Amino acid sequence: MPSRQIYFDNNATTPLHPEVKKELVAAMEMYGNPSSMHAFGREARANVEDARHRVAAFMGADESEIVFTGSGSEGNNTVLSLFACGTSQCFPGMKPKIVTTKIEHPCVLETSQCLVHRGVDVSYLDVDAYGKIDLGQLEEYLKSDGVGLVSVMMANNEIGTIQDIPAISALAHQYGALMHTDAVQAFGKIPVDVNELGVDFLTISGHKIYGPKGIGALYVRKGTPYCPFIRGGHQERGRRAGTENTLGIMGLAMAVDMRKIEMAAEAERLRGFREMLREGISARIDDALFNGHPTDSIPNTLNVSFPGAEGESILLYLDLAGIAVSTGSACASGSLDPSHVLLATGVDAERAHGSIRISMGRSTTVEDVEYMLDVLPGIIERIRNMSTAYIKGGPHAAIR
Ligand SMILES: *Cc1c(COP(=O)(O)O)cnc(C)c1O
Repeated sequence: MPSRQIYFDNNATTPLHPEVKKELVAAMEMYGNPSSMHAFGREARANVEDARHRVAAFMGADESEIVFTGSGSEGNNTVLSLFACGTSQCFPGMKPKIVTTKIEHPCVLETSQCLVHRGVDVSYLDVDAYGKIDLGQLEEYLKSDGVGLVSVMMANNEIGTIQDIPAISALAHQYGALMHTDAVQAFGKIPVDVNELGVDFLTISGHKIYGPKGIGALYVRKGTPYCPFIRGGHQERGRRAGTENTLGIMGLAMAVDMRKIEMAAEAERLRGFREMLREGISARIDDALFNGHPTDSIPNTLNVSFPGAEGESILLYLDLAGIAVSTGSACASGSLDPSHVLLATGVDAERAHGSIRISMGRSTTVEDVEYMLDVLPGIIERIRNMSTAYIKGGPHAAIR
């Protein structure tokens, strides 16, 4: 292990908040089943419902509108899968068309591709060079009658770009479609209020906000058609079967409580660090190309490409120096395909391959940022010197 350990991969997952850790340790003593009527069960039930109240309140929802899930992925799968249900007996009136975007998380994209095989018509919105969708194109799709759901992520996990969800929701509703947003990366980083956003469904996840892994929540607006993804129990008002993950639920609520306290000041601090990184990298490294929107973006995320340097090599050299980042390619899935998000913004495959994502968190310090700026230029230079592909000020300089 190098002497320093810097974690710049908070969009992949976050460490537990110390208060969450304490809450989990205490909660481990409580083993009752919330569905049991005796004292053990009632204690667990009280804790689950208290947690539901706190999670709901932070997003401006009513507690009856919160369904605890096993992950952000489950929340997204649940919402999209409603629309395969619409083609069968659950919701005969459901319009079996979905409009989503080319830059969604794989748990939306792959689910939507599966739905296509089940008879659902899915359209994918393009994004501009900053990763923003075009409302005009959305309206075109909505005009072709039969769209039941619009699903647009609030903030992108790779490039950080934030979409105009209130405007997208309003347009969806104007054409009679329901609106879902994957808010996993936005929630806890920027204000998220279901009524201001005007959404019918909204997904969050615990482990992206210093809470436990394997817990999430789905907001479902009162009166919205719904169909359980996991069946066979009355839990969560019949909306998600399975004995509640009391430990995860209590940890999630504590993580939310901590976000309530820390979010605003942290956003300010991380935005400053992000600009330090942007300026420092621009000043020290030739032809650094930033991806994503420069301002309409979650404050902790900076995605940057270095033509002539492979993202995987940068990641490995940074790891040797004790710095953890991630790359723009989908190496999580075992392939080295360039990022679908970067390609959707119109960058070429080489620029997409040469990208890294720096995602900071509540523990990031100015020393971490300075250390990164100290070591990164040497690493990029070393990699570029080994490659024949890079020409300083080459064709890439023009597309900054
Ligand atoms: C991490 C992530 C998810 C998946 O959440 P899990 O709880 O890990 O399943 C979904 N969407 C986005 C944007 C994410 O960043």
